[in-house]
Amino acid sequence: MTFTNTMEVALAVKAFGAYAGDKPLEAMDIERRATGAHDVKIEIAYCGVCHSDLHQVRAEWGGTRWPCVPGHEIVGRVTEVGGHVKNFKAGDLVGVGCIVDSCGECPECADGYENYCDGMIGTYNFPTEDAPGHTLGGYSQQIVVNEGYVLHVKHDEDKLAAVAPLLCAGITTYSPLKHWNTGPGKKVGIVGIGGLGHMGVKIAHAMGAHVVAFTTSESKREAALALGADEVVVSRNEDEMAAHALSFDLILNTVAAPHNLDAYINLLKRDGTMTLVGVPAEAHPAPNVAALIFKRRSLAGSLIGGIPETQEMLDFCAKHNIVADIEMIRADEVDAAYDRMIKGDVKYRFVIDTASLAG
Ligand code: NAP
Ligand code: ZN
Repeated sequence: MTFTNTMEVALAVKAFGAYAGDKPLEAMDIERRATGAHDVKIEIAYCGVCHSDLHQVRAEWGGTRWPCVPGHEIVGRVTEVGGHVKNFKAGDLVGVGCIVDSCGECPECADGYENYCDGMIGTYNFPTEDAPGHTLGGYSQQIVVNEGYVLHVKHDEDKLAAVAPLLCAGITTYSPLKHWNTGPGKKVGIVGIGGLGHMGVKIAHAMGAHVVAFTTSESKREAALALGADEVVVSRNEDEMAAHALSFDLILNTVAAPHNLDAYINLLKRDGTMTLVGVPAEAHPAPNVAALIFKRRSLAGSLIGGIPETQEMLDFCAKHNIVADIEMIRADEVDAAYDRMIKGDVKYRFVIDTASLAG
């Protein structure tokens, strides 16, 4: 174990990012701060490619800070810890998700909901004192993070690449599934079988629910059953949809594009909830209020998850032998991967091998 202090020099690191929303990503050199007393330095092995990376680096949401280095599904090994770090040592397998800091003082932080802290600092595109003034994410060789935002990975090391997507796709589905009491006797729908959705199917199945996967892709019908879905509905087929009217306790909607929400709200039973986690660049058509009122249904949202719950999710997935289904890419293939992601042409998550940044 090496101890350092904040006086040491910053670290030059190779990364992959973009200088503007209409420019492809390219190799760039970035700086990481020297390992502070409470920091953990991590050699990044793999980083998952989330649809949020695409939304932000292509400036679909607005507010992107340049240069933008995306990536918040980070796994790797600790190489150095600061003198006051208690829970990590060099050599540990770790993960970093969407959050690298928060205010630490508000009721949300006190309850372990750093994801709902107004001062939450995301892993990329959030203000920081570190160069260049905003956070830079995991499409890079190394990252330095306060230990309070670092997670222990307990899966076997040979699964490490497939663990990466749990750090966003896993927690973003685990948290609402748990919050809305997914378990035996519950009928749960997962809409959109992409990076988030395929994790949702696996996790809801492991929680013991009856799981129905909704997909627009006929080609995912068999594949979704293999993920653990009890039934699959191709949502373009109205008869298949109608067969499930008034039957769901919970529907978790991960779709990254605007679509008709009523088609799903009508499938909820009385007091059922549809939770949106997808954040399309343009708004959904307004839902029909009557469909909510007459059966006391709820339309809700959910944002990733807090740090304690992210560790709980990782431990749950290690116990149940759950990892993501991935396709490994080089960093310089990421733009092509985004294009394929938009077409739903990935089963189910691209993961960057950060060794490709060296050459
Ligand atoms: P993804 O891998 O692209 O998956 C989205 C899936 O939605 C696609 O695979 C496709 O599934 C379905 N879909 C896409 N376009 C559609 C359309 N026009 N109509 C109907 N279905 C469509 O994306 P992801 O990484 O899972 O992320 C999904 C969304 O969640 C993004 O907007 C992302 O920014 C957001 N997100 C939110 C949070 C949060 O905390 N709330 C966290 C992470 C990501 P089928 O082929 O099965 O139809
Ligand atoms: Zn994400």
